[in-house]
Amino acid sequence: MFETVIGLEVHVQLNTKTKLFCSCPTSFAEHQNINTCPTCLALPGALPVVNKEAAIKAMRLGYAINANVNHVSNFDRKSYFYPDSPSAYQITQLTKAIVQKGEVFIDLKDGTQKRIGMTQAHLEADAGKNMHEGDHSKVDLNRAGTPLLEIVSEPDMRNSDEAVAYLKKLHATVRYLDISDANMQEGSFRCDVNVSIRPKGQEEYGTRVEIKNINSFRFVAAAIAYEVQRQTEAYEDGVYEQEVRQETRLWNVAEGVTKSMRGKEEAADYRYFPDPDLRPLHVTDEMIVEAKIIPELPDAKVKRYVEELGIKKEDALVITSDKEMAYYFEEMLEHGAVAKTAVTWLTSELLGRLNKAGFSMGNTPVDAKALGILVSKIADSTISGKGGKDLLDYMMENESRDIDALIDELGLAQVSDDGAILAIIDEILAANQDKVEQYKSGKDKLFGFFVGQTMKASKGSANPGKVNELLKQRLG
Ligand code: ADP
Ligand code: MG
Ligand code: ZN
Repeated sequence: MFETVIGLEVHVQLNTKTKLFCSCPTSFAEHQNINTCPTCLALPGALPVVNKEAAIKAMRLGYAINANVNHVSNFDRKSYFYPDSPSAYQITQLTKAIVQKGEVFIDLKDGTQKRIGMTQAHLEADAGKNMHEGDHSKVDLNRAGTPLLEIVSEPDMRNSDEAVAYLKKLHATVRYLDISDANMQEGSFRCDVNVSIRPKGQEEYGTRVEIKNINSFRFVAAAIAYEVQRQTEAYEDGVYEQEVRQETRLWNVAEGVTKSMRGKEEAADYRYFPDPDLRPLHVTDEMIVEAKIIPELPDAKVKRYVEELGIKKEDALVITSDKEMAYYFEEMLEHGAVAKTAVTWLTSELLGRLNKAGFSMGNTPVDAKALGILVSKIADSTISGKGGKDLLDYMMENESRDIDALIDELGLAQVSDDGAILAIIDEILAANQDKVEQYKSGKDKLFGFFVGQTMKASKGSANPGKVNELLKQRLG
C-alpha cells in the first residue's frame, strides 16, 4: 500500500496598478509591447525600484495566514534564457522571502479541519508571452515584470481532494483580501503540482515530479490521479528508479496524461545570486498598518454564520467559499431577510436559476437587496412562497424595479386581512352545509377540503396560515 504526498506551488498575479519594478501599467493593452519601458525591456542602465503596493499585498496574505512577515527581505536573480525574458534572468526571492511559515486550514468531508503548512510566499516578476505563428514566433512584453506572489506549500496533502480543497481555500482567500482577481482561465492563479508516492509507514519521501501550470481544479485532480497510478505501477513493476525521476511534466488535456517536459533543474543550474541593483526590501510601519487591514475571512465567517445566525455548517461552507456569494448573503440580511430562509433562497432558488440561465454570482440580474426584500415579504406574509418564486422568475428576466410595485402589478399580494378571508370562508361554509355537519360529527379529514375551497375561491391569494386559523375558529 502506498501513500500519496502532494505539495503545491501557486503563482498569484497581484492586482497592482503598476509592474513590480517599474511604473508601467499592468492593465490590458490594445497592442503588443506598449506597456513597456527601459526597465521591463531590460535595457542597459535601467534600474528597478520595488513596487510598495505589491509588497503590501504580499504582506497582507502573510498576516491573513498567520505567517511571519519579514521586515527585511532580499531579491535574487534566477538566471535562464528565454525569449520572453529579455534580461535573461528573473528577479525573485530565494534566500529570504517577504513571507514565511504560514498555515491554511482546509475542511475535510468528515467535518474536521486539517492544517496545511505554507513554506513561504515570495515576490517575483512575471515573464512576457511568446506567441507561435506558423514558422515564426512573436514576443509580447506587456506582461513582463508584472508582480507575482509565489505561494509554496509544505508537502502536507495526502490525496487530490485535499489538494483541491487547499487550492480553493487559497483562491477564496486571495480574492477576499483583494490582492488578486485570481482568474484561472486568464492565468492570474496558476498552479504547479508536486506529486510523489511512498510505501505506507516509510518516513522519507519518494521522488517528486512537478506538473507545471495547471489552470483548473478539475485538471489538478485528474493529473494527480494519473501520476499516482503511473508511479504506483512503476513501483509494482520494479522500475520505479528508471520511470520516476525528479522532472517537470506537463498535463496533456486532450490525452488525459502527464508527459515529461524536461529534467528538473537543481537550484545550482539557475546560478542564483543577490540582485546587485536592488537593496534589501525594508518594510515600514506605515506599510504594516496598511497590510493589516484584513476583512473577515472564510473560517471566521463560517464560525459566525453557524454560531450567531444558526445556519448549517455545510451551507456556511458553500456560501463563504466565494466572497461574492458571502457578501450577497450578508446584504440580503441587511434588507430584512432571516438567515435560514435567505440560505435557501440564495443557494437553491437563485443559484438554480442563475445556472440555468448561464449567469453567475458576478453578473446576477437580481441583486442582493431585491432578493433580501423578497424573502422578507414572504416572512411577513405579504406574498406566499409560491408568489416569491413567481416574483423571482419575473425579476430574472426584467429590469429591477421597486418590489412593492411589482407585487401589486403581478397581483401577488396575499390576503391576510381577517375580514376579507372570513367573508370567503362564510360563503364556502354556507354552500357546503352538509359537509359542515359531517365535519362536526367527527369527519376531521374534511378540514382539508374547506382549506382547499377557500384557497381556490381566493384565487390562491389568501394567506394559508390565516385560512387555517380562521377556519378552526369558525368550525369550533
Ligand atoms: P522548486 O522551486 O524546485 O519546484 P520548491 O522547493 O520551491 O522547489 O518547491 C517544492 C514543492 O514541492 C513544495 O511545494 C513542496 O511541498 C513540494 N515537495 C517537496 N518534496 C516533495 C515530495 N517528495 N513529494 C511531493 N511534493 C514535494
Ligand atoms: Mg517549482
Ligand atoms: Zn516597465
